Amino acid sequence: MSFLETLQAAPSAFIGVCLFLGLMVGSFLNVVIHRLPKMLELGWQQQCAELRGEEPVAAPTYNLITPRSACPHCNHAIRAWENIPVVSYLLLRGKCKGCGAAISPRYPVIEAISGILCGFAAWHFGFGWPAAGALLLIWALLALTAIDFDTQLLPDDITLPLLWAGLLFNLSGIFTDLASAVLGAVFGYLTLWCVYWAFKLATGKEGMGYGDFKLLAALGAWLGWQMLPLIILLSSLVGAAVGIVLMVAARHGRNVPIPFGPYLAGGGLIALFWGQTLTQNYLQLLSAP
Ligand SMILES: [Zn+2]
Repeated sequence: MSFLETLQAAPSAFIGVCLFLGLMVGSFLNVVIHRLPKMLELGWQQQCAELRGEEPVAAPTYNLITPRSACPHCNHAIRAWENIPVVSYLLLRGKCKGCGAAISPRYPVIEAISGILCGFAAWHFGFGWPAAGALLLIWALLALTAIDFDTQLLPDDITLPLLWAGLLFNLSGIFTDLASAVLGAVFGYLTLWCVYWAFKLATGKEGMGYGDFKLLAALGAWLGWQMLPLIILLSSLVGAAVGIVLMVAARHGRNVPIPFGPYLAGGGLIALFWGQTLTQNYLQLLSAP
């Protein structure tokens, strides 16, 4: 029996493999979350310098692979055994091996969330393409959520490939038919674009960014236009609740922008797992006498 046949025959083995994969990729997501915004900023600075007609400055290579991971305090290079998802953090008791500086608990938390969500997706969908798609979507949404929290950016480098990937998956109707996916992408973008302009014309302020439109377009491409109302409803409810808590806690003024991307991502995940059930129940409620 091949490895894939074994996974197909044994659901618990498939869940275990996806959990493990989720932990490993979660570790890589930490690198993406940390470095992608800096890579974008370096790129923009270079473009600005070029436009001003300045000589390009020779900067050290900085991408997702180079330089190797190191402690930001003492530059201690992180070895393989110090880089095992979640386990290393516990073994090191959350401190750098070189200088003892505290390591952010965010790293193991993101690894654990990725592992748990991937294991859950494997259990929910079972062996097959829907599970594979769910894993990809989970990873992209996790990275976008953390980057939006940090920088209030939803990089095109993630949202646009995510949109194409959704259309590609639905070529053979993995999550929805192709027509619903294409309409989902178009209406996803247009809906928030309209909200943005209505809000801007009414208040003169910008309530969200173009990244939010692209993220909802990507979710529409993955799940179909039928899921858009549910995603918007869920993300607005959670967003409003969190926004009110933050305002009451007085950490945020009314004018401090609250990133909307994490709520869209959360609404998208709920729709991925329970969207069909939720919309069916909702329609039944509506049609009940
Ligand atoms: Zn250190």
